[in-house]
Amino acid sequence: MLTVKDLTGIEGKVVYVRVDFNVPQKNGVIRDNNRIKAALPTITELTGKGAKVVLMSHLGKIKWKEPDPAKIEEMKKANDMAPVAGALAELVPGTTVKFCAATRGEELKAAVAGLQNGEILLCQNTRYEKGEEKNNPELAAEWASLADLFVMDAFGSSHRAHASTVGVPSILKAEGKTVALGYLMIKEVENLTRCVEVKDEDRPYIAILGGFKVSDKIKVIETLSKKCDKIIIGGAMAYTFKKALGEEIGNSPFEADQLEYAKTCYASGKIVLPVDSIVSDNFDETAPRTIKTVTAAEGIPAGFEGLDIGPKTQELYKAEIAKAKLVFWNGPMGVFEQKDFQAGTIAVCEAIAGIKGQAFTVCGGGDSASAVKQFGFKSEFSHVSTGGGASLEMIENDGHLPGVDVLK
Ligand code: AMP
Repeated sequence: MLTVKDLTGIEGKVVYVRVDFNVPQKNGVIRDNNRIKAALPTITELTGKGAKVVLMSHLGKIKWKEPDPAKIEEMKKANDMAPVAGALAELVPGTTVKFCAATRGEELKAAVAGLQNGEILLCQNTRYEKGEEKNNPELAAEWASLADLFVMDAFGSSHRAHASTVGVPSILKAEGKTVALGYLMIKEVENLTRCVEVKDEDRPYIAILGGFKVSDKIKVIETLSKKCDKIIIGGAMAYTFKKALGEEIGNSPFEADQLEYAKTCYASGKIVLPVDSIVSDNFDETAPRTIKTVTAAEGIPAGFEGLDIGPKTQELYKAEIAKAKLVFWNGPMGVFEQKDFQAGTIAVCEAIAGIKGQAFTVCGGGDSASAVKQFGFKSEFSHVSTGGGASLEMIENDGHLPGVDVLK
């Protein structure tokens, strides 16, 4: 596959770059500009080569099923891309950053035509268009008609076959135009490929899965049970496994329709479950509550729910992780947003920090990446992915992502 580094003779050419500027923001105030920063190497490479850079990204969600047009307008307003242009401009001093409030039509065409070499145009949220998520062919064709080349750098969106991620490059490719991967994509794909195509020297390969729902991670458990030597389970999803194995789980959340599946997964012999849990009789941290540690043998009493792995489990998981040569982690071990239930997730961070240099360690984005940053462990990992859904899907589908496959 071509990469942005390989592109030559692009001075004056319109390069359409799909970036992931889906930044956390409220009322135009951007709380974290890391996603913008992550796209800078690609953007500056292109502006440095004199290209006219057109950036497209989605931001938040627009629920098109909403029948009230006024509510749709509210959702659009809440996800306006304009403030992101300001945040980007601050990060590329000396480069002109323009913003186009239109997603289609003459206004967009004129904005692209008005670009000078080396300038950047950020377009309005792609999801302002109903056809974006449906990969509407006319929308994709209109966007493609504006571009001479396409660069994909939105790893966090590459598992979605939308008009801006798959529609546009497939049209340009069919027209014989150049399509390439950006720097962020290269880094993500290379690092995650190591968790998909596992080399002998990377064993033991240990996966750590946590988070809320088993159903979200079903396919990944199946794929990982073929690739990994062990799968360590934490978070609320552990209780679906425990329930399936007949343990007492009190009021802990579990997914009734996943019990049979959990049993089948467990039969692989690779799944390691918590041996104790931190439980509470109330989820609400502002309410008076009783928090205690119970072992798996005792079971979780009625009225209590498991909200973190316990200290014995922390030790067990640390010992497993200490042996690893390759680690893939997705999903926190407990409700890490609350101080009382952070210890399990921090213990996993510490265990991974402990094998720095001896193992290749990947945090697969989403909530676990937020936890890793919050607890100050980002630099201890070999790779912290910018895409939770995309990294899981890449592993699930044996290395395939629609937004990457279309460029091949
Ligand atoms: P996910 O999006 O599936 O990775 O889930 C992440 C969310 O699961 C976080 O907000 C955690 O607080 C939550 N979570 C993790 N463990 C538990 C638990 N034992 N009980 C309730 N929520 C949990």
